[in-house]
Amino acid sequence: MSLYIVATPIGNLGDITIRAIDTLKSVNLVCAEDTRQSQKLFAKYDIHTPLTSWHAHSNESKLKQIIEKLKDNQEIALISDAGTPGISDPGYKLIQEAIKNNIRVIPIPGATAVITALCASGMQTDKFLYLGFPPTKKGRQTLFNSLKDEQHTVVFYESPHRIKKAISQLRESLGDDRSIVLARELTKIHEEFWRGSLAEAEKYLEQTKICGEFVIILAGG
Ligand code: SAM
Repeated sequence: MSLYIVATPIGNLGDITIRAIDTLKSVNLVCAEDTRQSQKLFAKYDIHTPLTSWHAHSNESKLKQIIEKLKDNQEIALISDAGTPGISDPGYKLIQEAIKNNIRVIPIPGATAVITALCASGMQTDKFLYLGFPPTKKGRQTLFNSLKDEQHTVVFYESPHRIKKAISQLRESLGDDRSIVLARELTKIHEEFWRGSLAEAEKYLEQTKICGEFVIILAGG
């Protein structure tokens, strides 16, 4: 009885490890954030393991069901829509409950957008602060203000419809000159790393049709 935390691709379906495929094929059940989305990956790699859903709104009874199966000696894998489960993805509650029940949790490492963006950003990578998704309302500007004195590179996720606002709020908090990298559509056909200052980023986003997924990397102060 083990719970495997399996990383899946963040765009390019080739970015999955042999161990991840073997694990997804050999377990009794795969818990997926969106089972329909996972079918594409399963079809590509000829995986026929039964799927069940585990997402941000899964309730206590679903949690109990999965834990009971694990206690019943079933091997279960957890995957999210993209990347590493638990990294700004539902997973935490299930992982914590498994640990409480003395179930072994085994990570199967692979893609995650934060590291993919950071490693090619050109920013200092020896130390960095990962903020996940910044709050959407309360606390947002306070968080951005607090980055004024942050010495290390800061990485965060932002949804495409908030990216423009995020850049202008960051500019408001940090001024025009702080360097920023916008990493977009990583591992996909339209992958792009845009590099410049906050003031230039604001201008760039005004002239660009914003689509796709973004990771924001901000230089330390
Ligand atoms: N668990 C995932 C991981 O390991 O990176 C993150 C899931 S989180 C719900 C989704 C966010 O990750 C997106 O809004 C975006 O900020 C970032 N992201 C995921 N895939 C990406 C990609 N291919 N390019 C750029 N950003 C991506």
